[in-house]
Amino acid sequence: MHPDTMAVHVGEEPALAPSSLVPPIYQTSVFTFKDLYTAADVTGGTGAGYSYTRIGQPNADMFAAAVAALEGAPAAAVAASGMAAILAALVAAREGRPVAAADEIYGGSVALLDGFLGPLGVTCLRFDAHDPASLPKDAGAVLVESASNPLGRLSDLEALADAAHRAGARLIVDNTFPTPYLCRPHEHGADIVVHSVTKFLAGHGDVTLGVLTGDEEMVRRSQAALTTFGATPDPFACWLAQRGLRTFGVRMERAVANARGVARFLGEHESVLRVHHASVPGHKDQELARRFLSGEGPAILAFDLEDEAAAARFIERLRLIRYAPSLGDVSTIVLHPATTSHRQLARSEQERLGILPGTIRLSLGIERLEDLTAELGHALA
Ligand code: PLP
Repeated sequence: MHPDTMAVHVGEEPALAPSSLVPPIYQTSVFTFKDLYTAADVTGGTGAGYSYTRIGQPNADMFAAAVAALEGAPAAAVAASGMAAILAALVAAREGRPVAAADEIYGGSVALLDGFLGPLGVTCLRFDAHDPASLPKDAGAVLVESASNPLGRLSDLEALADAAHRAGARLIVDNTFPTPYLCRPHEHGADIVVHSVTKFLAGHGDVTLGVLTGDEEMVRRSQAALTTFGATPDPFACWLAQRGLRTFGVRMERAVANARGVARFLGEHESVLRVHHASVPGHKDQELARRFLSGEGPAILAFDLEDEAAAARFIERLRLIRYAPSLGDVSTIVLHPATTSHRQLARSEQERLGILPGTIRLSLGIERLEDLTAELGHALA
């Protein structure tokens, strides 16, 4: 062989099949076949194996298996982002019928319904997740968040699943905020659970990814949508997420405890008008937290300062806590929902939902509580 050809082919197969402790990254866009018949079986879906990374790859399957186990679901599909997972779940679940979404959901989901699915001809309805009777009767897919973004409001998942099933609809629960550490929506009747893996599941702010779980049929249909849209993930992103997931339990334990401690601290501070977290005494969702969140509040809380100017001053004084439009990281992150994550909503709609000009969202990381309260105390002073 000419050296140019050797450079392309020598060393393609490892001499020894290694058994690594950590899964390898299958960073390839395509897989090879030994013969025509195996290729026909795999691409035709009658044989196991991989053909083309957009259709399926081992790093996605390993991560999917982990999340399916955590959510207690028969199957999972990995998506290029949380938004891609939500879109695929809606397509799989609605069977040509309208989509109904809770009033309080992530702004990106609102944009998906109102700015994209609506103009494509899909009827998108909204309802109050705290009143399951308000669920539109003709919906085919119902989208709610197990703890809403940004105020962490909880709803009765069992009543919602009952109402959805009575209407012949499927319930999709976005479990990004509580994560399966606190809440397993399938146990309460959810048909599909979706996640922005970008957040607590991956946990290190270095990957954009989504996942959904459900029964074999829902996952097969969602996977077909993802594959056809080209919204399937890159192998390295799946590998990073799986690496992050290995510390999920210890990260969540610390972050949830930090949220409880910071909620207590903020609740006693004279500049804070209100703290939105299920651990706060007298919070209206405490009973729901006992039923659906293992008695805890999520590792995210919100609090109200007097007005937008006070929120801006507070954010400018932070040093350790960074201002970033995300959540679920090992570092504590702050955000002003009215001007970022929920800017799609009119001010009047924001205020109706309790998102005020002075509302700040805090996603707790794994730092020590005393450093966080010192930082918050300094910024609030
Ligand atoms: N769901 C919730 C509750 C979110 O907060 C987000 C993003 O912030 C998403 C879904 C979308 O996830 P991604 O940014 O990974 O597409």
